[in-house]
Amino acid sequence: MVASTLVAMLCAHLLCFSAMFLLISRRLPGNRMGMDFFAVGNLLLASAYILQLIEGRPAWSAMSVVNHILTLAAPITYWLGAMRFFGRQVPLWRPLIVFSVAYGIAQLLVQWSAGPAARYAMLAAMATVLFLAMTLTVIYGVRTFAKDLYGEMIFFALLISGICILNALKFMKIVDDGLDALQMDSRFQMIFYIYMSSLATIVPPSIVWLVLRRLTDDLRNRAARDPMTDLLNRRGISEALQRYFKARKAAPAYLLLMDVDHFKQINDTYGHQAGDEVICHVANLLRSTMRHGDLTGRIGGEEFVAICLETDSEGVRQLAERLRADVESQAINISGSGHVLRCTVTIGISPHFYGAHGLEEALRQADTALYRGKAAGRNRVEAANADAISTLVLPPVLNPFTQQPT
Ligand code: GH3
Ligand code: MG
Ligand code: MG
Repeated sequence: MVASTLVAMLCAHLLCFSAMFLLISRRLPGNRMGMDFFAVGNLLLASAYILQLIEGRPAWSAMSVVNHILTLAAPITYWLGAMRFFGRQVPLWRPLIVFSVAYGIAQLLVQWSAGPAARYAMLAAMATVLFLAMTLTVIYGVRTFAKDLYGEMIFFALLISGICILNALKFMKIVDDGLDALQMDSRFQMIFYIYMSSLATIVPPSIVWLVLRRLTDDLRNRAARDPMTDLLNRRGISEALQRYFKARKAAPAYLLLMDVDHFKQINDTYGHQAGDEVICHVANLLRSTMRHGDLTGRIGGEEFVAICLETDSEGVRQLAERLRADVESQAINISGSGHVLRCTVTIGISPHFYGAHGLEEALRQADTALYRGKAAGRNRVEAANADAISTLVLPPVLNPFTQQPT
């Protein structure tokens, strides 16, 4: 009686969360993050438990065959859903149908050749193998594709390994005691149902949390980037700089301000679309020229910023010069029009600065240098002058305990 109540509550949980996953997936039309698969998984598992309630004790019937198929199809569906969450475009129905047919035939063969207990033992063994594979995949994910979800993945690995262990124990009990091991009110089955009910309560909110994390990370990323070039915008640069200076001892940074020369003429002569392509071309060049870890951004129409970290004034000058020469030498094919354009850029370099609070002043100094470059004929690199340097070159005051800038 207690076991039946537990299983009924488990079914109610699974069905409620199935509906919730479905509703969430409908609010995520582009990338459903596996939510539709998790809804199906919950539905399959709930159906398996409903059949078990109707069936009562272990038996050889069509309903029991379907029950076993559903019991294993559910974790397979969760697995496929998790792959979707991590961006793999795996199908759902074809693998499920292939599995259902294959496992139906396997059940017939085992029942016919080794009897009913063997069929139930096969179910427990299959579940053990499946959940073991899932646990190992999650552990692998922590080191590779899910590094950003370390805590969550470890939590899932622990929960899934619990089901794996319980199924392994169930397998051994069936081998020892036959079908008696599967009495619904036996102590082992009660523990099994309590564990599954706890999972049905804990796992769905955890999955919703994962989706929420991905969505908010995505939103933060979008708010920090320019949609046309995918470079950082002004806000993104400021935040990235704050993170950089928070994480390290004070090391100087240099700012390059780069502006495309006579860009208005490009727009006026070839059209706004061609202008956009020139902006994207220069953005790509900037991205590929800067070192990994440096920051690149677009802060205006055809104005770009690069912040060079962990380098010196000579290194920055060489980099700016290389950038200027690369832009000048590369031809830009304007798609659809057959036009081949060339453009040049003028670059202003700020003095070195420490801390995110130095960004505004560095921008101002780089802008002054850029303006000088424009006045001197464009297509050149200008560094901030000595007077400007003296206002920014002061090293930061370090906290004596943390050695971080105060
Ligand atoms: P200079 O050499 O002095 O920099 O001359 P310029 O013509 O490049 O200078 P200006 O800043 O006057 O021109 C910038 C132009 O960029 C004006 C604006 O119409 C255009 N613009 C701003 N944003 C975009 C954009 O997203 N796409 C395109 N195609 N043009 C843009
Ligand atoms: Mg310009
Ligand atoms: Mg400009």
